Amino acid sequence: MRKSIFVLALVMVFTVSLIVGMGTQAESSPLPKVGVVTTGGTIAMKYDPAKKGFVPAVSGEDLIAMAPKLRELARIELIDIARIPSSYMDPPMWIKVLKSVEKLLSDTEVAGAVITHGTDTLEETAWFLDLTVKSPKPVICIGAMRGASEVDFDGPRNLENAVRIALSKEAIGKGTMLVLNNQINAAREVTKTHTAQVETFKSGEFGFLGYVNADGKIIFNRQSTRRQHFDPPEKLPRVDILSFFTGADGRYIKFASEDGAEGIVIVGTGLGHVNPAVHDAIEAALKAGVPVVMSTRVHQGRVQPVYSFKGGGVPLKDKGVILADDLNPQKARILLMLALTKTKDPKEIQKYFDK
Ligand code: ASP
Repeated sequence: MRKSIFVLALVMVFTVSLIVGMGTQAESSPLPKVGVVTTGGTIAMKYDPAKKGFVPAVSGEDLIAMAPKLRELARIELIDIARIPSSYMDPPMWIKVLKSVEKLLSDTEVAGAVITHGTDTLEETAWFLDLTVKSPKPVICIGAMRGASEVDFDGPRNLENAVRIALSKEAIGKGTMLVLNNQINAAREVTKTHTAQVETFKSGEFGFLGYVNADGKIIFNRQSTRRQHFDPPEKLPRVDILSFFTGADGRYIKFASEDGAEGIVIVGTGLGHVNPAVHDAIEAALKAGVPVVMSTRVHQGRVQPVYSFKGGGVPLKDKGVILADDLNPQKARILLMLALTKTKDPKEIQKYFDK
């Protein structure tokens, strides 16, 4: 009898110490943390039959709950900023997103930050973050091409992939990435190429940075070498984008420079060309002290001073026009806005575009 009480007591002591031991082990190695900032977009939308279209309907918490594997991967620190379509994004919202990302990344336990966002202007927010986030921790921008009420909603997969990238050691120092459809793109290089397909984000002649394997493994093939950093701004200057078109007379450039635009991005043709009337309007804006950047409507390649006809790259550059290199107009606008927080001198601004 005494012996069996002794054995029972021994078993109980062993069990209790096992439970306590497991507890301390769980406490000493909790899951890593990943920050998530939600802003809206299709990834936060459902079809509304009454309104006959998709509308914002999914909170950050709802979205996280739709990706149950996250619970095995990380503890999620959520900042739910907004539930807007990304055509409603604007420079003050970029700054708000940046501040949330900075706040999350400043926590030493947080491995990286994920931003959920509409795909329409996702590349702009991603590029702004790439230029302004100081931390080398991974920042991953995602969205979805199919809404949360669709059978093949791609949001949870994209969120799970993004969290895996945030936790990957190889992703450190790669800057801001844009990830959909298992494909990892660099913020500087990526653009939306299709209005509706799930494989819409491409990086043109640069190609993808890497992939997320079916088993969740992260594969990087390369990294973007053209990265630079600006101190986070409190406010951004007004920069307008104006598109050249055949027969244009430059009146909108005149309007913008007289109406208070602090910089103008022109969407030129080919290597960055306009006609004589637009050349004159650009020259007048430059004389009025408004820096003008020439980008192109062509999707790949660099703006280059090759032609000397009036409106060609050689005379435009001579007059002080800044060449956008390979940045598309919407990304050239963001770089010009940030460069204008440092200088108004076109020669100095060109240096930021050449980096
Ligand atoms: N179609 C867009 C999206 O993917 C709408 C938006 O940009 O908010 O989210």
